[in-house]
Amino acid sequence: MAGFFRPLPALEPLTAPFWRACRAGRLEFLHCPRCSYFVHPPRPICPRCRQGELERRAVSGRGVLYSYTVNHKAWYPGQEVPYVIGLVELAEQEGLRLTTNIVNCPPERLRIGLPVRVVFEVLNDEVALPLFEPAEEGR
Ligand SMILES: [Zn+2]
Repeated sequence: MAGFFRPLPALEPLTAPFWRACRAGRLEFLHCPRCSYFVHPPRPICPRCRQGELERRAVSGRGVLYSYTVNHKAWYPGQEVPYVIGLVELAEQEGLRLTTNIVNCPPERLRIGLPVRVVFEVLNDEVALPLFEPAEEGR
């Protein structure tokens, strides 16, 4: 999928650390130290306990494919089809999910519950996208 134009995410105070961590090869989320809850999408306070002192914490980058669609329409010049939009649930917390692309996997191999791991597609000096590929079980 690399090599075609992708719109860049806006680097705002609440979101920029996420993209910059990806650029450094780490998948990080906001985390509430009081109730031990990962907060995503980013917001200024913990939705569970309502406190506002959140920290950034790296996760393993491993998870499972929660849902997906196989798309056959190219929306950008040079975009290869089909491509897969996936919803990945991270191993660290039930409901901690990223909307992403599933790469390095033929669509016929996809299934709900497929173990996946993060790979990063570098877009520029500040931003990399967290994409996911199949992970061998037990590795
Ligand atoms: Zn909390």
